[in-house]
Amino acid sequence: MASIRRSSAEPAHTESMTIIEEVVKDKGVIRRYSKGKFLGKGGFAKCYEFINLDDEKKVQAAKIIPKSSLTKNRARQKLISEIKIHKSLNHTNIVKFQHFFEDQENVYILLEMCANQTMNELIKRRKRLTELEVQCYLLQILYSIKYLHDNRVIHRDLKLGNLFLSDKMQIKLGDFGLATKLDYEGERKRTICGTPNYIAPEILEAKETGHSFEVDVWSFGVIAFTLLIGKPPFETNDVKSTYKKIRTNDYSFPEQIQISSAAKNMIKKILITDPSKRPTVDELFYDDFFKTGGSIPKLLPVSTLACPPSAS
Ligand code: ADP
Repeated sequence: MASIRRSSAEPAHTESMTIIEEVVKDKGVIRRYSKGKFLGKGGFAKCYEFINLDDEKKVQAAKIIPKSSLTKNRARQKLISEIKIHKSLNHTNIVKFQHFFEDQENVYILLEMCANQTMNELIKRRKRLTELEVQCYLLQILYSIKYLHDNRVIHRDLKLGNLFLSDKMQIKLGDFGLATKLDYEGERKRTICGTPNYIAPEILEAKETGHSFEVDVWSFGVIAFTLLIGKPPFETNDVKSTYKKIRTNDYSFPEQIQISSAAKNMIKKILITDPSKRPTVDELFYDDFFKTGGSIPKLLPVSTLACPPSAS
């Protein structure tokens, strides 16, 4: 546990410290953006729609970080690392990093707009998804993780709230605040600045052997369980009890919810304490859960944000 340095130890910025003008100018390239509707709020950032007045009114999502929240060196380094990693990525299932600039008050990160919120809101609305939907989403999530792992990047904070949905209902993985890029293939990481939500047991134990790509596979298993069952496998009312459940691998499939044995088997194969025994992302593509007989849709209709897809 000692190696987990929490970012929450840093002072939270208050509302009054954030000043965001209605028209923001990026002096570097002389582009002007009109601030649109408020999209949401994260740890340090506020997110707004930004309309690019010099590029056919293109709508982007602007993540705005007040400089007052970056006074500590560690917070600054974390943001620099997030920008460096995110900027280097280019994949259909990853939120596109489009531009970044700063003014006196804030740092602005301009991202591909994801108009249909995140899978967190989806699950809140729908409670749980059908297996066909879960197959469709999990495959897209696997493509995004495969791309990252092929490029030696570990996301380390895979969770429903970081899985965005585009206007076409495509999965877009975002938030690279806890991500890391390995310097070489076999490198093992020791520390994480922050508390990942769907944390793998080897991070909790702060194992001498460190952690690597397998932590993303663990979180993928937690995501699969949550989408099918409607709540995360190790959920309790307090973080300490959740961590204990993760360490002792204490989870079960509720009897009242019907899911296929292929789904159960895939989750059981992933949620294994020993990271070396978990399947890799490449292996997961060939899991029986994705061998449906019928075809898995590439995209789902927007209507599934509110109700299950029709059986036809
Ligand atoms: P933090 O990294 O500080 O947690 P987030 O990246 O989670 O900040 O952004 C906060 C909120 O802003 C999200 O929950 C979401 O509502 C909104 N948001 C972030 N990125 C996008 C995007 N690309 N498109 C649409 N909304 C976004």
